[in-house]
Amino acid sequence: MNHLSATEATALHPWNESGQIDAPALEGWVEGRLARQQQQIASLLAVEGPKTLENTLRPYDEAVATLSATGSLASLLDSVYPDKPVRDKARELTQTVAEAATALSLNQEVYHALSAIDLSHADPATTHYVSQTLLNYRLAGVDKDDATRAHLRELSDKATEISLTFAKHVQENVNRVEVHDAAELAGLPEDYIHNHPPDAQGVITLTTDFPDMQPVMTFARSADLRLRMFRAYNTRAYPANRQLLLDLLAVRQQMATILGFASWADLATANQLMGSAANLKKFIGELEQASRLGAQREYEMVLTFARGQQPGLKNLKSSDRGYWYEQYRREAFDFDSQSVRPYFPYDSVEAGILETAARLFHVSFQRNKDTSVWHPQVSAWDVYDRGRLVGRFYLDMHPREGKDKWFSAAPLIPGIAGRQLPEAALICNFPGGKPGDPGLMQYSDVVTFFHEFGHLMHAILGGHQAWAGVSGISTEGDFVEVPSQMLEEFFHDPRLLASFARHYQTGEPIPAALVERMNRASAFGRADGVRTQLFYTSYSLDVHNRPPADIDPDAMLEEGYKRMMPYEWVDGNRMYASFTHLIGYSSNYYTYMFDKVIALDFFGQFDRSNLLEGPTAMRYRQAILEPGGSRPGTQLIADFLGREQKMDAFAEWVGEEFAGTAAGEGSAAARKETDGIGNSA
Ligand SMILES: [Zn+2]
Repeated sequence: MNHLSATEATALHPWNESGQIDAPALEGWVEGRLARQQQQIASLLAVEGPKTLENTLRPYDEAVATLSATGSLASLLDSVYPDKPVRDKARELTQTVAEAATALSLNQEVYHALSAIDLSHADPATTHYVSQTLLNYRLAGVDKDDATRAHLRELSDKATEISLTFAKHVQENVNRVEVHDAAELAGLPEDYIHNHPPDAQGVITLTTDFPDMQPVMTFARSADLRLRMFRAYNTRAYPANRQLLLDLLAVRQQMATILGFASWADLATANQLMGSAANLKKFIGELEQASRLGAQREYEMVLTFARGQQPGLKNLKSSDRGYWYEQYRREAFDFDSQSVRPYFPYDSVEAGILETAARLFHVSFQRNKDTSVWHPQVSAWDVYDRGRLVGRFYLDMHPREGKDKWFSAAPLIPGIAGRQLPEAALICNFPGGKPGDPGLMQYSDVVTFFHEFGHLMHAILGGHQAWAGVSGISTEGDFVEVPSQMLEEFFHDPRLLASFARHYQTGEPIPAALVERMNRASAFGRADGVRTQLFYTSYSLDVHNRPPADIDPDAMLEEGYKRMMPYEWVDGNRMYASFTHLIGYSSNYYTYMFDKVIALDFFGQFDRSNLLEGPTAMRYRQAILEPGGSRPGTQLIADFLGREQKMDAFAEWVGEEFAGTAAGEGSAAARKETDGIGNSA
């Protein structure tokens, strides 16, 4: 195959050979691609006589592939391109592509043509693809009359427009915290203080970008600085996004009503493993009960400890949580999370995670310096399977002005066996990327890197299906966080860590005893982490599961927080204004906890004394990653486990800390709100 040759690449990617593009060229590229998609649809509608896979499903799937890649690449440029005019044009064009996709999803002629395909000789993957596609057509409202479909299109376009504006506000709104007395940075790591020198007036400016924000919340001794940072971080995109959120919720509810659903949450779960909002409520209730006592106990232990350190302390605020958990872990587990940062300089972590994934999944990665990228910070990598090129990914890993602020994996080009290689990108905001800054990562950053790399492997190794529509991560949406969270678990293996975690100054590998203390310490707080996730999960559900007129995003946030969390509520917390998962996952934030249960069940299949070399990894690759979306999630689970999925591994994981035999992460679970997998819709 020669799909990555220079001439083809210019058609596949919008940017030129130096990775650059301007707004008019981008517009021309998108228009060309949309015209091609229309031809593909026209060719399937022109078929007379029997509808076959080749004359009908193939052109349909080509149109899907064209739309998917065009939308993903436009959205990528919106997230990462250095020049604002290009980002703005890219956002506008993302809207245009989404409108074309909506039009296709309501096209009755296409629906009838697909329904008429003779599937009597089709393989199971193809049958599954067609049945899912027809189901999604019906959920979109294809069988409604012309006027209703026109109205649905209008509403859907409106929802896209609001969503893109909401995301743009979060991307562009960086808040700043001024520090007038350098003593306020006490407790923060040396390299952090060194990287934030005072200006001529003696003022130190911190931003709400992740590498600035997170160490303050974990290490800063000053409760006031933590509170200022907490407020700055949780008021990003406020007030602009408050009204946008209300508008979006109203539009979504209108669509759900037209389509015969009681609420948006019912519509959004209808084609998922979850099935309904009622099932989701039950799921939340079960986890709420399972985590209540543990979380209460954790909170009391930390509060008692904090009072011992700071007599007169009444309560712990939300803004104190990270700091006091860190202090408690130092005392109770003899583990200072600053002590592992020097072993996690960004470059070594990147090399180590690539090496780990290569050994685990029996692939190799080769840096491709010839291919063009959109910014000098970005690296491109080719993936080989036994010498055969099977895909490419891009790593864009450090913050930049105007760049997306989250951690996400973005599929870019869906792979189609024999026709087109899959491509994907990671868009992250890890420390480093600046001269003189070694980019020392907190261990939760490293867990996040493993997580995102799990998505990447799914996109690439699952990208060799016969059809783009079932390629890569196109499983049910609520299965998508399984491969990512499964890979997180590998972070805790001392031998694996010692292979790449070396002190950035001395080169000494991370001591096994330190890893053991880190694992024990990080397991503390799991029940609290589960409840943090349940707080986000319930909020996402609740705002999508009641009449929009009854929604007060502030009151619901405060009420939900107090219901689920023991910490003192901080007034002025507007986190919903920057909670971009409300855009991408809508009511379905539950995906993280739901998939954590599955991921831990999966991880239980591995031989922990021989994580990388045993046969299980290859079996996992073949049963879970390679099929992509070509089988229902329930079947993927049964194929790998040889039985139905169980809660046992998860229950053990939540309860484990009290047995003192922990190996896991708690704080990383509390990070999921920062993760999202882009363009997965
Ligand atoms: Zn994820």
